[in-house]
Amino acid sequence: MKNIAVIGSGTMGNGIAHVFAQNGFKVALIDIRKEALDKAMLTIAGNLDRMVTKGTITNEIKASTLSNITTFTDMASGVADAGLVVEAATENIEIKLNLFRELDKVCKPETILASNTSSISITKIGSVTGRGDKVIGMHFMNPVPVMKLVEVIRGYSTSDEVTKKVLELSLQLGKTPTEVNDYPGFIANRILMPMINEAIYSLYEGVAGVSEIDTVMRLGMAHPMGPLQLADFIGLDVCLSILRVMHDGFGNPKYAPCPLLVNMVTAGILGKKSGRGFYDYSTGSKELVVASNFQ
Ligand code: NAD
Repeated sequence: MKNIAVIGSGTMGNGIAHVFAQNGFKVALIDIRKEALDKAMLTIAGNLDRMVTKGTITNEIKASTLSNITTFTDMASGVADAGLVVEAATENIEIKLNLFRELDKVCKPETILASNTSSISITKIGSVTGRGDKVIGMHFMNPVPVMKLVEVIRGYSTSDEVTKKVLELSLQLGKTPTEVNDYPGFIANRILMPMINEAIYSLYEGVAGVSEIDTVMRLGMAHPMGPLQLADFIGLDVCLSILRVMHDGFGNPKYAPCPLLVNMVTAGILGKKSGRGFYDYSTGSKELVVASNFQ
């Protein structure tokens, strides 16, 4: 399998394309927005430049990585030769189901269809195709070129053969794959999101302030960043939507999102990407500045 297609060229899609291309795969990077593709290619080139400067790759590897990626706005042309499609489009169930219905029509019958979804059921995605045995989750972590883990999620109908192939491909990328069954939040978010939610509850109930909560988890548990800072990095809207998927999927109140998180997202306070979350990023300071007025 040498030809891969990646759908969606945002934060995750550009990283996934980069990693496949750097490991010798021919990558078709597809997005409905031409400007997203242009931005992705600039990001990949910038990340490769940093790796050259650090001495982790040579200029030749940078050049071959870039030459292995071709961009497309037309999905059918992009996926025509692909043995594997990795979908990393916007986390929205309607967008994903429509994409997979279409992919099932335009891809070769043997093509494996993977989704990088953080929370949508792989079984559900597989059910809208005529090839549920070839639909699988390939959940990369952000930033993809740096993070070693790939959660490989088996939908209810995913075959052993396809799972084995995707585990092997992940190893070829220098990643460590872990096989997980398809239940809400898989493993990474099932454990991470309740921790983040509990950190927000601790703030909401006045147990401690933002920097105290993050300091306890950084220095006491050796986490590289505290849960509130991490929530800002992931995006508070993303955290809320994953918690809602788990709350709905399990019907268990322990996953109910903290009302403070709901209020912040409703107010448009989404973390780093909006300039403010639990910390204030608008000052441009390298030091973390705690935001104020949590209600
Ligand atoms: P993003 O918003 O940065 O990028 C999504 C891209 O998909 C955009 O460029 C958009 O134009 C494109 N797109 C939307 N509809 C499309 C379509 N029909 N065809 C082609 N392209 C389309 O999102 P992201 O953060 O890269 O997330 C992508 C996926 O990865 C989501 O499923 C998300 O849950 C998952 N994920 C994200 C992270 C993270 O930290 N950001 C981590 C793991 C998994």
